[in-house]
Amino acid sequence: METNSDPLPFPHWFSKSQATHDVARGIMQYGPIARTPLAQVFNLSQGALSRITSDLIYDGVIEEMPAGSAQGGTLPEAITPPDTGGRRGRPQTALRIREDEHTFIGVNIHDGAITASEVNAMCRPIGGDVTEPITNRSPEAITAQIARIVSAVISPDAPWPAAIGLSLGGHIDDDRFVTFAPFLYWDAIVDLGALVQRATGIPTKVYNDLDSILLYECWFGDAIGVPRFAVITMGAGVGYSISDCGNPIDNPDKSYGLAGHVLIDPQGPRCSSGHIGCSQCLTSDSIAEEYSGIVGHVATFEEFARDLQANTPQARRLGERTCFRLGVLVATVANLAMPTTVLISGESSFIAKKNREFIRKGIDTYRHSQAAPVSFTIPQFSWRLWSDSAAARAIAEFIS
Ligand SMILES: [Zn+2]
Repeated sequence: METNSDPLPFPHWFSKSQATHDVARGIMQYGPIARTPLAQVFNLSQGALSRITSDLIYDGVIEEMPAGSAQGGTLPEAITPPDTGGRRGRPQTALRIREDEHTFIGVNIHDGAITASEVNAMCRPIGGDVTEPITNRSPEAITAQIARIVSAVISPDAPWPAAIGLSLGGHIDDDRFVTFAPFLYWDAIVDLGALVQRATGIPTKVYNDLDSILLYECWFGDAIGVPRFAVITMGAGVGYSISDCGNPIDNPDKSYGLAGHVLIDPQGPRCSSGHIGCSQCLTSDSIAEEYSGIVGHVATFEEFARDLQANTPQARRLGERTCFRLGVLVATVANLAMPTTVLISGESSFIAKKNREFIRKGIDTYRHSQAAPVSFTIPQFSWRLWSDSAAARAIAEFIS
């Protein structure tokens, strides 16, 4: 077992003042963006902002877009873009990241499989992704498999990857040591960052998968500029995470699945910890077990999913009940954490997509009738989004 705890060398795009790194991040999140709203975002004078952006242009981190192309990005709610309509004067040039200067590899280890993909510095996909089932869960075998998949997704036409971001469901210390990974059944701490870095020759950091999803949404997705944004995932496990003003709220215990055993249905099934109707009833295994009881034989989650697709009455009713329960969890999150919007994701979020009205019923049952309706979205799920999100974490470190 690797016990060396020297920090793994990790590249950074440039090294300047904190304000310069903050502005680069702002251009990543809100760009293309003109200098005036950018100065407002960071509460900087026009002069100070201009000096910073000159440095970033000189270092090849950002570039000016053609004149008159300002705006188009997503601004924080408090910032109003300058009104140049109808007035004379030089149109503002917008600034953007030189996104094709660097590439990153994202890898996600999920329940039984590994997905890898390549992205540019704005986390935009390059080429196709690869998903392979895990055949051997030992750290050495998984490392060898990751190295093979990574080499398959590296594009020969793009710059060599600056870093690998690797995510999994579990607890990771120092962005490298996997100390808890319920889907991998490892019984000792594994220095997965060092193993993958050695096998690929590419600087590697390891992150929690849900933290990665949230950071992706805050930097490149739906949470840009949103005051508070919550993510709930359903699949092999139940995940929950929340951001404040584009920053994921951090807590060392988050990765233990703190929303995994919240009471959502007093008549629900019993979980392995003995709770009746806790949020574990949203997991694939629990749904399969409940479905087995309904149809009278041992059914897999895949069988339930097939029957749901075929709209059999038994599968449809369990799908509706599951979505009502999910709605109760969404209401709990909305009532206590007061997010602006809730994103529902995870590999079994297709159930939620089919039954939005039952999610709404679950929410309404536990929310004041005069409170604003809870805004929730259910994007099309893909493992690629999870591997790209792991790369997003690596990008965030690369630019900070
Ligand atoms: Zn439980």
